Amino acid sequence: MVAEASKEFERECNPWLAAEARFNRAAEKLGLDDGMRKVLKTPARELTVSIPIVLDDGRLEVFTGYRVQHSIARGPGKGGIRYAPDVTIDEVRALASWMTWKCAVANIPYGGAKGGVICDPTILSQGELERITRRYTAAIIDFIGPEVDVPAPDMNTNEQTMAWIMDTYSMHKGQTVTAVVTGKPVNLGGSRGRTEATGRGCMIVALQALKRFGIAPQEARVVIQGFGNVGGMAAQLMEKAGFRIVAIVEYDGAVYNAMGLDISALAKHRKETGSIVDFAGGENMDREEAMFLPCEILLPAARENVITSHNAHKIRAKILCEGANGPTTALADEMLADNKVFVIPDILANGGGVTVSYFEWVQDRQGYFWNEEMVNQRLEEIMVNSFNDVAAYSDSHKVDNRTAAYMVALDRVAFAIRLRGIYA
Ligand code: GLU
Repeated sequence: MVAEASKEFERECNPWLAAEARFNRAAEKLGLDDGMRKVLKTPARELTVSIPIVLDDGRLEVFTGYRVQHSIARGPGKGGIRYAPDVTIDEVRALASWMTWKCAVANIPYGGAKGGVICDPTILSQGELERITRRYTAAIIDFIGPEVDVPAPDMNTNEQTMAWIMDTYSMHKGQTVTAVVTGKPVNLGGSRGRTEATGRGCMIVALQALKRFGIAPQEARVVIQGFGNVGGMAAQLMEKAGFRIVAIVEYDGAVYNAMGLDISALAKHRKETGSIVDFAGGENMDREEAMFLPCEILLPAARENVITSHNAHKIRAKILCEGANGPTTALADEMLADNKVFVIPDILANGGGVTVSYFEWVQDRQGYFWNEEMVNQRLEEIMVNSFNDVAAYSDSHKVDNRTAAYMVALDRVAFAIRLRGIYA
């Protein structure tokens, strides 16, 4: 019985199955025929590569890397690369498909892709990480490029990782090709505003949702799960915009302050102590308790499967703004709908990152760089338009926001495929 229940939960938490469930629901609503469903669902290309590396202690180790290009119907593949010990091909495949839908919702000219390397960055030196990154790049070099597939940072990868990829690719091509990756350092072809972009995008759509409820940011209590690039940036920007960040939840604890946490002070505390716990400007709180505090906005900004059929009924947030990819399982969707939680789904909420990646790619290809104001203004325009497009589908088809976002995306990709026709 227990084994069966845990098997069922394992299935619930398989991101590829979750992606499929959402896909099927939207395809059904759109009345897409079986053939188109097959084309839309099936990844265009999947690579598995071996990455042999000499570790610092002289041992030879072999890591495994993946790159999945889910769709190239609307443009080159696009999506991050994550480094984690538990990366699986199913996870990378799901994340690649989410990139396709995310780029389509934002209406930027990309398909979707994702990469992953099975490794534990916490026990690897900078030198080892650099060697893994360069060897992985060399292994996939024929399948990436500004017009082919453009990687970017994701969990446990950053600007430095992108600089190494750009350099490795450029060395092989005999010229500097900045547009092969996005999320690079600003003085190496990166875009201003890229680091903050995902968090900023979350804030922009959260503001749109609040408007629908007639709530001012000053009246909005926010709980954020994750204090990394997405959660940390969202916290900083939202605090600045007047929101009250009442709790931050991390993997090792949570901190709470009903009056609102001082985010810069908390970031400083974490930098000094390595953890958000025992912060003088708030009180420690049980992680579960913090996640389920009554609030206006709950912003999961870490990993997949945080909100599941086991806990979705406990959520007391008005708005769930999904900063992470896949934080909610498909089974939890219905429970959230029953409790009238307004969900801003991941493929809409966290699209700010890839949108500014798109700006970076455009700037690299033009060799002409924008100021931060221009980046932020154009980001806002795209996020607000995407929010409105999803809201319009939700209203006219009488479906929840997630189904509506998938419908917008599937419609756009299917349209491109029909126009192009099937080459044979
Ligand atoms: N990794 C980010 C995401 O999941 C950004 C991808 C990109 O910029 O290409 O959206």
